[in-house]
Amino acid sequence: MKPLAIIISSPSGAGKTTLTTRLRERVPDLRFSVSHTTRPPRKGEEDGREYHFVSRQDFIDRVERGDFLEWAEVFGNLYGTSRAEFALAEGSRGIIFDIDHQGARQIKAAEPDLTSVFVIPPSMAALLERLRGRASEDEATVWKRYAEARREIEHYGMFDYLLVNDDLEVATNQLISIFLAEECRRGRNAHIAEALLSKTPTPTSLGQSTLPPGSSRPGTLVSGTLTASPHSSSPLAAGSLGAASLDSEKDPA
Ligand code: ADP
Ligand code: 5GP
Repeated sequence: MKPLAIIISSPSGAGKTTLTTRLRERVPDLRFSVSHTTRPPRKGEEDGREYHFVSRQDFIDRVERGDFLEWAEVFGNLYGTSRAEFALAEGSRGIIFDIDHQGARQIKAAEPDLTSVFVIPPSMAALLERLRGRASEDEATVWKRYAEARREIEHYGMFDYLLVNDDLEVATNQLISIFLAEECRRGRNAHIAEALLSKTPTPTSLGQSTLPPGSSRPGTLVSGTLTASPHSSSPLAAGSLGAASLDSEKDPA
């Protein structure tokens, strides 16, 4: 089974790093896609953990070699997701990409099944407070990121989910819920249903003697309740309420 891939985007400072970290604490075996970037590390960031920190020339060489699944320039720095990073997620439960809307569009084009979440702050005042509260950048950088927020928010319409990060605990639970719900998508679990079906005898291959005494065959009306199975060969299975199929008395079995 392919790992569940989730993109998380937001204007800078809205809380996607915080939410991603909390999601990974609560949902085991989730990988974080470590991007390459030309921006210098912030205090506390480690090469290979938050990012692979590389020079601009190194980044450009990688672009020319076709190493990236997507890449973009954000706030004057280059950021990219390497194909190798995506391949590393093979066998894990899921992978999270913390990338901007340009990267989200590129990855979605290559991997249409991917789920995308856009995180917004409850207000612009809260965003500014969070950018300042992070205390890892000077005031000019804070303002640059704040000024870019509107341009980033304009792209919210291309994402599958819009998560308002007001109360952190609520937003964390919402992100976890999105992940768990996406795991239950029919397409992801269809193979399990199909395996069950392939190992289960069809109603017609079931002799009546195998049914417990007093039980009805599928496709009959029991106390006014339709008991058709979608896999039954009964005319009721197709949803048609044919007179013959309703007449259980005529059924010799
Ligand atoms: P991003 O990764 O989107 O740039 P961060 O996760 O680094 O944002 O969060 C920016 C700052 O906001 C951090 O200091 C973080 O602790 C704080 N923060 C995140 N979510 C909330 C929240 N719901 N309420 C208050 N502060 C928050
Ligand atoms: P920061 O410098 O705050 O870590 O990230 C700045 C912006 O770059 C954020 O919007 C973040 O999502 C985005 N970003 C981080 N890594 C990548 C990447 O690999 N590709 C793209 N397109 N954007 C990225």
